[in-house]
Amino acid sequence: MGFWSDIPDPLGGSPGLPLAAGAMLFGIFGSLLGSFTNVVILRMAEGRSVVFPPSACPHCHHRLSALDLVPIFGWVMLRGRCRYCQAPISIQYPLVELAAALILASSFWFWGASRQLVPTAAWAIIWLIQTMLLIREEVAAPGPFLWPLLAFAVLTWVAGGPWLAVWALAPVLGTIAGWLATRGPSPGRFFPWFGVGTAAALAIPAWGWAGPLVLLGLAGIFPHGPTSLARKALKGALLLHLAAGLALAIRFGLWS
Ligand SMILES: [Zn+2]
Repeated sequence: MGFWSDIPDPLGGSPGLPLAAGAMLFGIFGSLLGSFTNVVILRMAEGRSVVFPPSACPHCHHRLSALDLVPIFGWVMLRGRCRYCQAPISIQYPLVELAAALILASSFWFWGASRQLVPTAAWAIIWLIQTMLLIREEVAAPGPFLWPLLAFAVLTWVAGGPWLAVWALAPVLGTIAGWLATRGPSPGRFFPWFGVGTAAALAIPAWGWAGPLVLLGLAGIFPHGPTSLARKALKGALLLHLAAGLALAIRFGLWS
């Protein structure tokens, strides 16, 4: 059993209003966390500090105001354009904020203040970051993929899951995926092997063994689909794999 199994459930599973209000609060907190998640995704890919300097428009470098940074609604109010230079702002920002809001709200809705709440929500956010790093194709070194794996091992231990198996498994899966990715006449570097390995490990709580197998299959065919359409289709498949996996695990619990 997990470390947190001794902590009693303060809500006692009481349904109704407290649950809905809690879910709403967690949703708002989630959207703010999603905003920070965007910063983490961008800066980890570039190997920069995630806390400094403050956010600025990547096009005109104008420092963003608090109003520009309001999760989801900031992007909607600006209609996807920078307030200062009119450069388009990626739809990734509001979508990641929305995803994080849904993750935290639904985690609270289904698990309340139980010991499942923090491991479930944290694991979901980590997998979201990890997948975004993978499909943005900006990370070539294992570093940015290493911390999700470490955090995941700790969370798995906290949630009472088989952390040792996962911890040992991820590098093996990554090696296989790396071998698949560098096979063939034109070795592809679209998916860094360690990124695939950590994504495979993160998919196990939701999908069981089917999760890593799907990812290894995707990594194997990815270099052989060099056209932009094939690449987009495979990234779409990866996002679907993530979204469905998160929905399953949050509804039915990690390691179920
Ligand atoms: Zn700008």
